[in-house]
Amino acid sequence: MLQPVAVGTKKLADYTHICGRDLIDEIHALAEPLQGARVVQLSATAFGGGVAEILYTLIPLMNDVGLECEWQVIYGREEFFNATKLMHNALQGNPQDLSAEEWGIWEKYNEMNSRELSSGWDVCLVHDPQPAGLYKLLPEKAKGWVWRCHIDVSTPNPDTIARLLPWISDYPEALFHMPAYVPEGMHGRIHIVPPAIDPLAPKNMALSPEDASYVCQQFGIDVDRPLLCQVSRFDPWKDPLGVIDAYRLVKEEIPDVQLALVGSMASDDPEGWDYFNATIAHAAGDPDVHILNNFNNVGAIEVNAFQSHADVLIQKSTREGFGLTVSEAIWKGRPFIGGNVGGIPLQVENGVSGYLVDDVETCAARSVDILRDPALGKALGRRGKEHVRKHFLTPRYLRDYLKIFTELSA
Ligand code: UDP
Repeated sequence: MLQPVAVGTKKLADYTHICGRDLIDEIHALAEPLQGARVVQLSATAFGGGVAEILYTLIPLMNDVGLECEWQVIYGREEFFNATKLMHNALQGNPQDLSAEEWGIWEKYNEMNSRELSSGWDVCLVHDPQPAGLYKLLPEKAKGWVWRCHIDVSTPNPDTIARLLPWISDYPEALFHMPAYVPEGMHGRIHIVPPAIDPLAPKNMALSPEDASYVCQQFGIDVDRPLLCQVSRFDPWKDPLGVIDAYRLVKEEIPDVQLALVGSMASDDPEGWDYFNATIAHAAGDPDVHILNNFNNVGAIEVNAFQSHADVLIQKSTREGFGLTVSEAIWKGRPFIGGNVGGIPLQVENGVSGYLVDDVETCAARSVDILRDPALGKALGRRGKEHVRKHFLTPRYLRDYLKIFTELSA
């Protein structure tokens, strides 16, 4: 019932010209003693959101350097995903905890999935809280266990984290994006490792300005007028309504500005559609606000085109685990404005490689600054891209994982 995901192939050598030979050599050296290691990665969905995005790159590269790595998606029905969505929100600070019944549902599906998982793995790498119970339930299925937390648990709902803690605290290795995200009471080794983006994936590969604007045009964007753009799920914490408010303030100063809100709907996110509709309602029929999702044929190339073409890229989150969209945006060399929360400040140095903002008004003011001064936007974008190149591309992330696998097998 665990669904294997086909990930295709990628070659680490193709990244040499982007990341430099030293890093590539270091990765091969680390991979040498791990040849043939059987690694299974478990996640809740193969579609939508940051985790899926990362695994489509990381797993082929692990295979390319000699590991035998597989990705399996756990089995779950709506009742499970409703419970895990609540858990996700509560762990990021929402006051509503799961009911006893919902906790029971979470446990029931973890038990089912742990029974279904095959044995004989060298490493089982579990992503996020949805399948986090597997280690406790059947630890003998793998020699080494790693829990990768992708969310911000710095101020969790106390009841929710207390209830989850016994399930996660004994993982021998656990990874978090930032020190602040590590819950108290973890007993294993803790690693602070932010994720990364794939510079060669269709979403991030170099696209010519002509191709980018050609694609945007097909979605009704007037490519001769300025464009603000945010790419993210339709979720209260991504604050698309705040982006619309900021756009309205910009429009008072620069009347021909347009806004594109591009968002994918994830199969494990039942709230997404409600919030998508709320976003449409908030835009109130403004013809210069373009609200698009993957059901309108907006896939990776289209996201790339919007990010490559936009004059200002925004990620106005009020809460953010890491925010892969931030590195994705900055990698396009376009000026970026983001909420000063979660992993966003790791990726943007305020005033140097973009702007960090705390409210709608500042978001609008910085957008106006950039739109009025293209040289400023260019300089921010250029510096941002170099920062991402150094810190947030997949080969660096692959190296960090190989180091952890080495520790596990020691
Ligand atoms: N994404 C996408 N299409 C969209 C919106 C989002 O492909 O319309 C991708 C986005 O490019 C990024 C991921 O979904 O790779 C979102 O990851 P992030 O860490 O920004 O946020 P999460 O959704 O995991 O909270």
